[in-house]
Amino acid sequence: MRFDTVIRNGTVVTATDTYISDIGISGGRIAAIALGLPIENAGKVIDATGLLVMPGGIDVHTHLDMPFGGTTSTDDFETGTIAAAFGGTTTLIDFAIQTKGHSLRQAFDTWMKKADRKAAIDYAFHCIITDLGAAQLEEMGALIGEGVSSFKLFMAYPGVLMVDDATIFRAMSQAAKFGGLICMHAENGGAIDVIVQKALAEGKKSPKYHALTRPTTAEGEATSRAIALAEMAGAPVYIVHLSCNDALEKVREARDRDLPAYAETCPQYLYLSLDNMDAPGFEGAKYVFTPPLREKWHQEKLWQGLAHDTLQVVSTDHCPFCFKEQKEMGRDDFTKIPNGGPGIEHRLSLIYTGGVHGGRFSPNRFVQLVATAPAKLFGLFPRKGTIAIGSDADLVIFDPNQEQTISAATHHMRVDYSMFEGIRVKGVPKTVLSHGRPVIENGIFVGKAGSGEFVRRQRYAGI
Ligand SMILES: [Zn+2]
Repeated sequence: MRFDTVIRNGTVVTATDTYISDIGISGGRIAAIALGLPIENAGKVIDATGLLVMPGGIDVHTHLDMPFGGTTSTDDFETGTIAAAFGGTTTLIDFAIQTKGHSLRQAFDTWMKKADRKAAIDYAFHCIITDLGAAQLEEMGALIGEGVSSFKLFMAYPGVLMVDDATIFRAMSQAAKFGGLICMHAENGGAIDVIVQKALAEGKKSPKYHALTRPTTAEGEATSRAIALAEMAGAPVYIVHLSCNDALEKVREARDRDLPAYAETCPQYLYLSLDNMDAPGFEGAKYVFTPPLREKWHQEKLWQGLAHDTLQVVSTDHCPFCFKEQKEMGRDDFTKIPNGGPGIEHRLSLIYTGGVHGGRFSPNRFVQLVATAPAKLFGLFPRKGTIAIGSDADLVIFDPNQEQTISAATHHMRVDYSMFEGIRVKGVPKTVLSHGRPVIENGIFVGKAGSGEFVRRQRYAGI
């Protein structure tokens, strides 16, 4: 037997198992998993002794090349996917945004063009629905058939992205019928808008008020409503970027009743807090994203949510805007600060550090959170998200003991600051393979923009 590549003697970690093995790769897929694979004729041999070999990370929440509030997120599909690869992510799911009054198809086509010949790793799309007429309702079924098997709706941002309960209920019913999954931005946008207007009228315009005008109760209420609407529609629901204990409790209650309710959180809610908004001058703007940062005590609740499967996924909500000129658009008014933060590059390292080294969960649970559960929920499994014969050879060779300090001076995202500046992580991807080809080798990018492929996802099938 001849392999294109053999990874030798690594510690293979999947969501369920840990064992030492070689992995043989042929034609971009995993062809053999066994000790003592023949290496004489192999095209390439990678020694992984003492290192972990894990399925490539799957980031199901990114916003590359996304227009927002008169500007555009700074990473496009080239720089964003390269930064993702540095961090051990080999597939991402971005969002194609429907323009009101237009078709969903147009959104999908627009985002496919943005990614074309740029992406260095595989990608897929959710579709954001901003307006759901009879025609778009019809389109949902067609898109699911073409591999866009999830949709995102907003309960926040009135007048821009927010949809009403009737629209949410219709979308959920349709998703249930065709095997789609609805992702929900759960915050009570109506109430928040009133609180924001009051703050502005009182002259409270600094970045910190972005967080103070979006209470955790607003997230808890919307999470509970989203779950209730899904239950009525007989549909699964996936809460995006869950940030606080109020919302976590709603998801736990639903899951205790065996409802197909799922939720993700993001590293910023696990590592940062409201205290970061007190940064000197206008620097708090670096942490303006939605939902906002919360009081510090929520962090441990979220970590425990990850450990106990109240939360199933860690994504990044990567949406980078430079501090200079972009965040600065809101110098005199926090509502003009583009919402979003950069994070696509450090998800695996941050979660491994806090989760595994922090003693909160096992390396297997880590793999489940960053790769396997996202693959299962979003129709990528078993092609991606695990190490098995026939799966794509999207692999991360990870040094669990290497340390690194996160800094804008050394990161690869196209943005002039880091949310995690100065944070020390332990556990760093050394070599990253996409379809069996090295993208990152010993910390250097060796892939190619445009080599990433669009992945047609399967229908929702539970976890
Ligand atoms: Zn987002």
